[in-house]
Amino acid sequence: MSLSDPVKTHRICVCVRKRPLNKKELAKKEIDVVTIPGNGVLLLHEPKQKVDLTKYLENQTFHFDYSFDEDATNDLVYRFTAKPLVKTIFEGGMATCFAYGQTGSGKTHTMGGDFSGKSQNSSKGIYALAAQDVFTLLRQKRYVDMDLCPYVTFFEIYNGKVFDLLNKKTKLRVLEDEKQQVNVVGLQEVPVSCVDDVIKMIERGSACRTSGQTFANASSSRSHAILQVILRRRNFLYGKFSLVDLAGNERGTDVSSNDRHTIVETAEINRSLLALKECIRSLGQNSEHIPFRMSKLTQVLRDSFIGENSRTCMIAMISPGMSSCEYTLNTLRYANRVKEL
Ligand code: ADP
Ligand code: MG
Repeated sequence: MSLSDPVKTHRICVCVRKRPLNKKELAKKEIDVVTIPGNGVLLLHEPKQKVDLTKYLENQTFHFDYSFDEDATNDLVYRFTAKPLVKTIFEGGMATCFAYGQTGSGKTHTMGGDFSGKSQNSSKGIYALAAQDVFTLLRQKRYVDMDLCPYVTFFEIYNGKVFDLLNKKTKLRVLEDEKQQVNVVGLQEVPVSCVDDVIKMIERGSACRTSGQTFANASSSRSHAILQVILRRRNFLYGKFSLVDLAGNERGTDVSSNDRHTIVETAEINRSLLALKECIRSLGQNSEHIPFRMSKLTQVLRDSFIGENSRTCMIAMISPGMSSCEYTLNTLRYANRVKEL
């Protein structure tokens, strides 16, 4: 991938991003089982064993709109995924970008970036990069004339319940009216007037997401976090960009736990990720019936799956180590299903 590659503009874009092996994996001398030759291709070298117990690697090829290797920066990934969607919300449409993958694969790194004090450009994630582009467009004369006002919301869905990350994790109710309009009652919609305002909200919400007791802390990988940049025109909803850091998908294959709480949690994550796949597929097929009521996640994102001018991008994150191979295969198969019509 390079900055000069053409940007695709179809309604559903599905891509993969491989992170580098981390220090722990390198120390354990883990084999890297993922190769990205470019052009949207990803090769997985799956460890297998013959009947005589000789071990070998079996190659499998996957195709996506784009494939990003371990050298890709957040800036590069942003440019081909969420950036082309920014103009959708200025045309009165709904844009959605999902980060999907197992815990530790790079979802939060990609979406939230690194807010550990240093804020060099390269450490910005898709949240901040998208906000930057929104404000650049808002300053253009034709949009100034349209009188568009930007707001942000930031909330979390855990175990089918919605919590406001900009308001002390207050639990909120989701109501659907007779016109099927979905409303998260009391969700803080904060007016913002520059990128720094948005970054402050990202920091506030991210801190809220991971703070609290150990339980709340651990739950951050088991919840979906949704940052929305909303444009209003004379108080009416005009366009909305939802940026979603999904719950880790590894629980789907983890059957070792007998803990009731974990089982309920797992079932809920599986349900919402299945619902998400079905809803994106219906968007791709222009289907009349969108099964958004299958989960809270898809219910609150209902707007994203309807309408002529809705566009979606999914970035499937990949941990390249041999020990993650089973999860990686799961992630790749899911991403493939989303794409295939
Ligand atoms: P997730 O949100 O999917 O659980 P994280 O984004 O927290 O995973 O990533 C896990 C760790 O790997 C973090 O320390 C993060 O900084 C690092 N990491 C993830 N993706 C990359 C990348 N592309 N390049 C360098 N480090 C990365
Ligand atoms: Mg995370």
